[in-house]
Amino acid sequence: MINLSRLTIKSAREALKKNEFSAHELVETYLETIKEKDVDLFAFLEVFEDALEQADEADKKIANREDLPLLGIPMAIKDNMLIKDRRVTAGSKILENFFSPIDGTAIKKLKDAGAIIIGRTNMDEFAMGSSTENSAYGVTKNPYDPSRVAGGSSGGSAAAVAANFALAALGSDTGGSIRQPAAFCGVVGFKPTYGRVSRSGLIALGSSLDQIGPFTKTVGDTETIYNVLKGKDILDSTTIADETFPPKKKFSKTIGIPREFVNARGIDESVKKNFEEAVNKFKSLGYEVRDVELKYIKYSLAVYYIIMPAEASSNLARFDGVKYGLHKDGKTSIEDYFQTRGEGFGRETRRRIILGTYVLSSGYYDEYYGSALSLKKLITKELRDVFEEVDFILTPTTPTPAFKVGEKTKDPLSMYLADIFTVPANIAGVPSISIPSGLDGNLPLGIELTADLGREDNLFIAGKEFLGE
Ligand code: GLN
Repeated sequence: MINLSRLTIKSAREALKKNEFSAHELVETYLETIKEKDVDLFAFLEVFEDALEQADEADKKIANREDLPLLGIPMAIKDNMLIKDRRVTAGSKILENFFSPIDGTAIKKLKDAGAIIIGRTNMDEFAMGSSTENSAYGVTKNPYDPSRVAGGSSGGSAAAVAANFALAALGSDTGGSIRQPAAFCGVVGFKPTYGRVSRSGLIALGSSLDQIGPFTKTVGDTETIYNVLKGKDILDSTTIADETFPPKKKFSKTIGIPREFVNARGIDESVKKNFEEAVNKFKSLGYEVRDVELKYIKYSLAVYYIIMPAEASSNLARFDGVKYGLHKDGKTSIEDYFQTRGEGFGRETRRRIILGTYVLSSGYYDEYYGSALSLKKLITKELRDVFEEVDFILTPTTPTPAFKVGEKTKDPLSMYLADIFTVPANIAGVPSISIPSGLDGNLPLGIELTADLGREDNLFIAGKEFLGE
């Protein structure tokens, strides 16, 4: 029997190469675990029937001594990424019967690297949420405590890695949707620099904010997947090459803490305590830790909840019942739209479309969207300036550990507050990683390291040192 809880991509690759087990046996073990436990957790919307066939293909390549970075590695994919000939719903009823005609770039790269795609994971509808409770298909539970949420919007992917349903997973992060569920589920979650990973084939939420990234058990495994995914892509004109951001300073093992932000109201005492322990650990690893002042960072959440809905309302205009998915007949074509979108979209999606349309509407555009863009510039500049002094900004990933299922569904504002520490990195486009930092009782907590544009290399160094890899 393969011990899945200890397995990493690195150790699995070694074992596969040495024929300690086959990809077929590995996938079989995962499928058994899923069958036994996913009825309670609901991490997967679909487990692919041909997973074992994919494993057999991988075994053939292994027998031929092919050495690809993810050869034979079972991975789970958030259901907003296009995988050829598979259903893709983005957690929405409006796409319930939509099949993807293509592989998105990230998926193509995973396949080329030999990964086995084991299934598609549950998510908040169109990636709008922090708990996966906005999925049209059901709630994903936290593997550490099924009365609690797994986080969101990539809750299914985070839970799948934490529950040993896959060795790694992909998620998307517009305002924290990889890092926040990673923290809630005790795994590593990483959002690369904006433009490092192609968004082609990712169902868009906020196009200036969205990035694809991995969930893994170790920082080393995250680095492996990132190296597979990154790169310029002709299908996404915002993608950038490695050399785009030469280092502005030499790596000096310095960490900045925005004290006021970290000590703000609404942050759990257990989170603060865990954070101080993490700070001390970094100190004992030879890092210099100092306080930094970030005046504008506290406006990040307000800025995010204007820019994101504005972009979402535009992106979601394409779901009109004509081009994609669900279609409902009314008496006129306008009625068709109303009925299709009224039935196909859930509450949170409709709320954000209305918000986004409002902030973009004539007379309000400058006041809301224009102001948000100006603040975005200030937040970005301030952060980038700080990275001339320190290598990293360190904060908790989330203000609380995983909350109870149903606890915040009636109060969208309190749900939005769960993103307080994660949204600044999306606004500034900088890379950011959540690393498990221990438990509060039986619930995992995470710390978040953020670095300058293009400095994922430094995040991997510090992350590995922190976890003792
Ligand atoms: N929780 C945030 C939101 O609801 C982040 C979503 C995301 O990153 N996709 O917008």
